[in-house]
Amino acid sequence: MSQTLLKVSGLKVAYGGIQAVKGVDFEVREGELVSLIGSNGAGKTTTMKAITGLLPLRDGEISYLGESIRGRGAWDLVKKGLAMVPEGRGVFTRMTITENLQMGAHIRKDKQGIAEDMERVFTTFPRLKERKDQLAGTMSGGEQQMLAMGRALMSRPKVLLLDEPSMGLSPIMVDKIFEVVGEVHKQGVTILLVEQNASRALEIANRGYVMESGLITMNGQAQQMLSDPKVRAAYLGE
Ligand code: ATP
Repeated sequence: MSQTLLKVSGLKVAYGGIQAVKGVDFEVREGELVSLIGSNGAGKTTTMKAITGLLPLRDGEISYLGESIRGRGAWDLVKKGLAMVPEGRGVFTRMTITENLQMGAHIRKDKQGIAEDMERVFTTFPRLKERKDQLAGTMSGGEQQMLAMGRALMSRPKVLLLDEPSMGLSPIMVDKIFEVVGEVHKQGVTILLVEQNASRALEIANRGYVMESGLITMNGQAQQMLSDPKVRAAYLGE
């Protein structure tokens, strides 16, 4: 079996007295696309923020490449190959597409490699190439999501964390985003995908975890979960 890259054990996170994540365990192995699904308010974003050091842990452990990353900041994690595209994207709206992508490579010094990765991002996201000199703030939500993913890829991550990439997008853009997430996975990037769109997220995943009220309530091979009547009834709107 392939190596475990990211492991979350007994994770608890609270906002003051409100327990948002109540003891969660999951892992992501090298080469996998793992989807963490669940409805609004289940605690998915809180879990992502705890992994990337944006929220303190109440309890539990998070390890990456076999080493604890508890309390590490986002900058440190990107240097180690763990990059996150947050909910809401966070592109630099007053910078051009090219400048945003260059920002994603700020931890690197290998000019040649950066140029190659920029070309690869433009091949994966042709729309970004067409608009490379345009300000990011003038692009649509879906295009900004692609830019945020492209920017994260410019750090050449081993593991990419994606928080709700399809949120707020038109149906056509949702299709495009899932297609591109699958494509990036095929290029060899290990992905943890957080999504409310459960069926689409499971369709492209190897494994899935269902989160409900701060706990993991189900997990398994994505294909099996897709055909499980319990999962279909509870999460796939059937
Ligand atoms: P979404 O799809 O809306 O992002 P989610 O599964 O990611 O949902 P979280 O955003 O992690 O869920 O929220 C988990 C719980 O924590 C919810 O009950 C939410 O109301 C609560 N919560 C989230 N952020 C805060 C905050 N800043 N202060 C207090 N409670 C919060």
